[in-house]
Amino acid sequence: MPIFEYSCRKCKNKFEELVRGKEKPACPKCKSKHLEKLLSLPSMKTETTHGLAMKAARRRDRKQGDQNLRNQAEYEASHDEG
Ligand SMILES: [Zn+2]
Repeated sequence: MPIFEYSCRKCKNKFEELVRGKEKPACPKCKSKHLEKLLSLPSMKTETTHGLAMKAARRRDRKQGDQNLRNQAEYEASHDEG
């Protein structure tokens, strides 16, 4: 079973965690799941980088979506008045 080393983005705590399947470890100190995987297996690293990029893109999309909704609401509000 692989043991991965993580660095917590929240409290900078570094710890090793036994990871089974797609279980997501949490920082033992602050329970945050915003972790950075430190193990440098090339294939793993690529996967992690890709996963993080996807996550960031998804977060950006969601933010953009919220903004669009807000703009739409503002547009409708001003449209009703005028
Ligand atoms: Zn932490």
